[in-house]
Amino acid sequence: MALQVYNYLTRRKEVFQPVHEGFVGMYVCGPTVYGHAHIGHAKVYITFDIVHRYLEYLGYRVRYVQNITDVGHLTDDADEGEDKIAQQARKERVEPMEIAEFYTRSYFEDMDALNVLRPDISPRASGHIPEQIELAQLLIEKGYAYVSNGSVFFSVKSWPAYGKLSGRNIDELEEGARIAVSPDKRDPRDFAVWRAAKPGHIMRWKSPWGEGFPGWHAECSVMAMKYLGLPFDIHGGGLENIFPHNESEIAQSEAAYGKEFARYWILNNMVTVNGVKMGKSLGNFTTIKDALTRHNPMTLRFFILSSHYRSTTDFTDEALDSAARGYERLIGPVRLTRERLRRSESDGELDGAFAEVIRQHKEQFVAAMDDDFNTPQALAVLFDFGREVNTLLNSDRPVTRATLEAIDNFYRTLGGNVLGLIPDKLPTSAEGGLEAQLMELILRLRAEARARKDWATADAIRAELAKLGIVLEDRPEGTTWRMVQ
Ligand code: ZN
Repeated sequence: MALQVYNYLTRRKEVFQPVHEGFVGMYVCGPTVYGHAHIGHAKVYITFDIVHRYLEYLGYRVRYVQNITDVGHLTDDADEGEDKIAQQARKERVEPMEIAEFYTRSYFEDMDALNVLRPDISPRASGHIPEQIELAQLLIEKGYAYVSNGSVFFSVKSWPAYGKLSGRNIDELEEGARIAVSPDKRDPRDFAVWRAAKPGHIMRWKSPWGEGFPGWHAECSVMAMKYLGLPFDIHGGGLENIFPHNESEIAQSEAAYGKEFARYWILNNMVTVNGVKMGKSLGNFTTIKDALTRHNPMTLRFFILSSHYRSTTDFTDEALDSAARGYERLIGPVRLTRERLRRSESDGELDGAFAEVIRQHKEQFVAAMDDDFNTPQALAVLFDFGREVNTLLNSDRPVTRATLEAIDNFYRTLGGNVLGLIPDKLPTSAEGGLEAQLMELILRLRAEARARKDWATADAIRAELAKLGIVLEDRPEGTTWRMVQ
């Protein structure tokens, strides 16, 4: 079976056929860097990390471009908002580019922790101003855009295909519902390719129409075209940006260059908190940094991959706890295999029957991933395989090194390279970080001291921990600890 992907452009699963044989160009809308990334971002970028990794597993050479939005994204996505980065800079009293730089670094730090491979190119919008001006000029020349009061607007009426991705009929588009419509527009549905900067607007560049800054949609169009050419294979991002962002990207790119923009639109569904969308503007978000103080990064990754990218993911403490247990169960047999490998010297051939088990599970895993990157199904295959491994290793039969290596190799390739979940160095425990593990160790040593009535040692441990702000409480069921501020 060949890889099938759900294409939002046609609203169905299609066999994946790249424009150039053996090569895949993929563009994914990157983060707007004005705050720490949250769980919603984790879902988007883990989703496309999986697409990236799986395509490489299938033998494609992938060029993955993911922009950094450091200008042009307005606070309320309306016509008259303030640039999100400029607003944050005003709040923190620093240069906008300090905000962008700080949160870009923070973003990559989080992605590295989650084992998300870096894109090949991470272009910044502010580094592509001439290209965005050129796009606006081309659209004006061809009659698809007009200049009004120093801004350049795309005329939606001039492009009948507008609405083809989101399925919206332009005649039915609500005229500026809920958002403030700029009086400079001829038609409320038109969108800005370039915006005139008002006095006091801090991020501004010279243009043929006066000082201004690019529209958010324009940056993705020009950076995708610049690094991937037209048409390119995959455009990815969060489903919430399908309209107007993605829709406008397509319209202005195809109108300006007269060529198809992207072949496959892969969009992931959102993260909810008790059924409500998680978002920075909604104030109900958990940052990745926050979640990682309580959970192992692999637990978070496992949690995201446990549901299909086109389903919503409901983020709750219980769900995360259950993911921690699930992940621990997943890597149990991997740990067992590696421990046995360390001490096994049993030569001999690969166990033929087990080689067949490996082959079958690999086939099932690939079938799951070929079906629009079905990671929950792929995980189910790994769990099933884990049961086989446990049965084999807990039996009295001797297991050869060759067999153990074949099992380990299965995990490294599919669980490690493809899912990014089984690193070479396994986390020692999915529950809690190193701190929790060290405390567990200290409490165990203290319990042993108490058991042999060595009160001096037990008291010394308590006193030393107290100096570090850690309070112990001895209870009949055991000792607990907590940090005091
Ligand atoms: Zn974008």
